Amino acid sequence: MNRLLAAALFTSCFIGLALIPPVFGAEGIPVFVSILPQKYFVEKIGKELVDVSVMVPPGANPHIYEPKPNQMVRLSKAKIYFAIGITFEDAWLHKFASVNPKMRVVRSEAGIEKIHMQSHPIDERPEDEAGHAAKAEHKDEHGTMDPHVWLSPQEVKIIAKNILGALVEADPANSAAYQENHLRFLEEIEALDSELRNIFSGKKGMKFMVYHPSWGYFARAYGLEQVPIEIEGKEPKPGQLKKIIELARKEGIKVIFVQPQFSVKSAETVAKAIGGQAVFADPLSFDWAKNLREQSEKFKAALK
Ligand code: ZN
Repeated sequence: MNRLLAAALFTSCFIGLALIPPVFGAEGIPVFVSILPQKYFVEKIGKELVDVSVMVPPGANPHIYEPKPNQMVRLSKAKIYFAIGITFEDAWLHKFASVNPKMRVVRSEAGIEKIHMQSHPIDERPEDEAGHAAKAEHKDEHGTMDPHVWLSPQEVKIIAKNILGALVEADPANSAAYQENHLRFLEEIEALDSELRNIFSGKKGMKFMVYHPSWGYFARAYGLEQVPIEIEGKEPKPGQLKKIIELARKEGIKVIFVQPQFSVKSAETVAKAIGGQAVFADPLSFDWAKNLREQSEKFKAALK
């Protein structure tokens, strides 16, 4: 074999190797999720076998988010998209599917029984008319159901099971690892849940006030009552705000919880009027367990 041929063979061999796609590469299965807490869940189960990209970046509002062109490029290489039923998906999931028809879209919230999105109870319209209007307006923000399922540990167990199923299907060779990680995660969820039950024991029926009602499943899980300021996805009008302030005074509420992804204007107006304060409670933090612990302590301190 002459040298030239040997060199050519050697080179083409290298090119050939470079062209063979690795099973999933050193970075793991490329997957996308909608929000940061889902990255936490998928990494708990997939660990180093997954490479998770998040569609809604920190600080952005997942109800109205619009994906960036570079995210669509990245999406074209993903194997799985884990949806969670948050509002922006309504407009975008089918576009994601058309950008990458081979990508599997998994509804990670499948099997969760949704509750209705809470809205501030204040309404001056006659009952019948109010009922109709509420139905029509509700669709704008959230559909009629509450999408914030990831803030309740028992609901996250269902999400975790859906993630496990999708990873095992995409990568059956590593099934045992996913099963094992999933079991560990379930234990962590149970431990967290009983910790939170302890925090809220003896607090049944107590109220906390929030701007945007993200904590409906959480409140239900721990027997609390969430009082939202937002009315059907909108800032309250001045007359409504006045009633909310009266209610907060009557209940002795001193803390209004706001989240960094929303305007804090009306929450601050209420806080100022009642001589209280607006405090951040972020439902979208990456470290889900740590965040729920921290928020629980904040809620506990503010319960009325
Ligand atoms: Zn929300």
